[in-house]
Amino acid sequence: MRWTALAFTHLAEILSPSRCAACDSLLDRRALLCAICASTVLRWSGDGNPLAFGHYGGALSSALLRLKYGNRPDLGAALGQLLVPVVLAHLTPRDVDLVIPVPVPYDRLVQRGYNQSALIGRPLASALMARLETRALARKDGSVRQAGLNRSDRLKNLQGAFVLRAPKRVRGKRVVLVDDVRTTGATLQACEDLLLKGGADVVATAVVARTELFES
Ligand SMILES: [Zn+2]
Repeated sequence: MRWTALAFTHLAEILSPSRCAACDSLLDRRALLCAICASTVLRWSGDGNPLAFGHYGGALSSALLRLKYGNRPDLGAALGQLLVPVVLAHLTPRDVDLVIPVPVPYDRLVQRGYNQSALIGRPLASALMARLETRALARKDGSVRQAGLNRSDRLKNLQGAFVLRAPKRVRGKRVVLVDDVRTTGATLQACEDLLLKGGADVVATAVVARTELFES
């Protein structure tokens, strides 16, 4: 049985070899990006709020856009894996009870078929030996898209966009809130406020990539 499984894995690799998550070039080893694309990734070295793997840009943004808009749920775990050492450098399994992904509106969840932040959060929850909690927070349908809005418009837009459906699930818990990208931070702030208001003990935040594009 085991050998059969191994044979199938090997066969799957031959039939569908690994490709770079950003440019689709063939890879001769299991990796997220080819060497050229990997050279465009700029690691985040700024403050830890939120904790972040890299700057939004280059091949990292291409891979994140493919995950979010290109029907590539397979990239979620690999992108989440990038975050694991970043988070483990600051938090241990003893510090965290729940990993909570920033929710997407139900209508978009149905359309996309997955929440990219939940896919990113899965390897993180596993590494932290914490529960991936996807039901406590929800985002209302019809919330206006955030792209292109400045920080104050985003904050206004987000007031009331999220709802804490199950406060019991977060009360007294130590939470890591996970999202794919942090732009102004308004989304993370809205979710963090709601979790703390609902009784969460402490909320840390983590994203794959950060941009300061709209910060001025
Ligand atoms: Zn590439």
